[in-house]
Amino acid sequence: MKKSILDFRLDELTQIVEPKFRAKQIYQWIYQKYVENFDEMKNIPKSLREELEQKYLLYPIKIINIEVSKDGSKKYLFQTEDGYTMETVLIPMKEQVEDDDGKIVKESKYTICVSSQVGCKIGCAFCLTAKGGFQRDLTPGEIVAQVLLLKKENNISANRRVNIVYMGMGEPLDNLDNVVQAIKIFNEQDGLSIGMRRQTISTSGLSTQIKRLGKMNLGVLLAISLHAVDDQLRETLMPINKAYNIESVIDAVKAFPIDQRKRVMFEYLVMKNLNDDITSAKKLVKLLHGIKAKVNLIYFNPYPNSPFQRPLDEDMERFKQYLNEHGVICTIRQSKGLDISAACGQLKEKKLNEFSR
Ligand code: SAH
Ligand code: SF4
Repeated sequence: MKKSILDFRLDELTQIVEPKFRAKQIYQWIYQKYVENFDEMKNIPKSLREELEQKYLLYPIKIINIEVSKDGSKKYLFQTEDGYTMETVLIPMKEQVEDDDGKIVKESKYTICVSSQVGCKIGCAFCLTAKGGFQRDLTPGEIVAQVLLLKKENNISANRRVNIVYMGMGEPLDNLDNVVQAIKIFNEQDGLSIGMRRQTISTSGLSTQIKRLGKMNLGVLLAISLHAVDDQLRETLMPINKAYNIESVIDAVKAFPIDQRKRVMFEYLVMKNLNDDITSAKKLVKLLHGIKAKVNLIYFNPYPNSPFQRPLDEDMERFKQYLNEHGVICTIRQSKGLDISAACGQLKEKKLNEFSR
């Protein structure tokens, strides 16, 4: 498979092209002017454009389907060069900002939920992605292209900031090298210029990899998919807990460098009559003691034949209230894009048979 030009950080591209200053120009054409092909890079000499065209792909993935949800989120199905499919979700949110005259106006803010692998090896019992098994890691360029193409397709101007959450298909820390490369490419000033603090890695809790990521000191935010407060239950929901139990995850989180003003997010998928009781809430408060944490409660989103049920609203509220009253910041995740099953982590399925290999 041909390498994509999106696989390269700016310093790497600088090593590849002559003269070196061309690298910056190429970066700007791609990430700020959203060109469709190398030929559109007007201030690049024709010989260099042809050389790039010969050696590299611009976009290593293409859009094959789009679903729009009532709340405005959009789910994109992408296909890779070798025929695999994966998904990305664009979630618009209205934000109140001051304009130049100090007037409060509403501005769209975007969060993009990206995939890091085709499928996933972790095999969580509640997750649709897990059902399809694991196909392969995504390359840095395939991760970068998800965001670039969504910005381009939705005419989101280059200087408009977006947040990235690695909560689509796959376990990002199981593809750490490629994810870290993508993080750095997203962060490039002459590229998409997405700050480290606007990128959140969500993990099922690969403690060793959390430590590795922490040592890199990138400044990215961390989200832990906890979902259960005792090892016995967590093992049945998430087999990874046999290798990395709750204590090891908490230890890894404590060693993770986090910005003074930021918190580690703990995702807690709530399933009816399973982990929605106050005893669990109590244990959760204890577990998070000493960590700058915030908890995000997620409604389990049922799918055909799923073994779990959506929790009751009042149980969610009660759980949240207990946490808040005991000093733990807790929010309930709005299920954006539910009608197109764009709840992160349970993408793909519907179109799977039509397009996928
Ligand atoms: N592998 C990583 C990131 C992708 S999953 C991780 O597990 O953290 C992102 C989120 O989607 C996880 O918090 C996961 O619990 C959630 N998710 C998976 N299946 C879900 C379902 N059926 N309903 C609601 N959320 C789900
Ligand atoms: Fe993989 Fe995350 Fe789904 Fe678990 S929840 S199977 S880690 S994608």
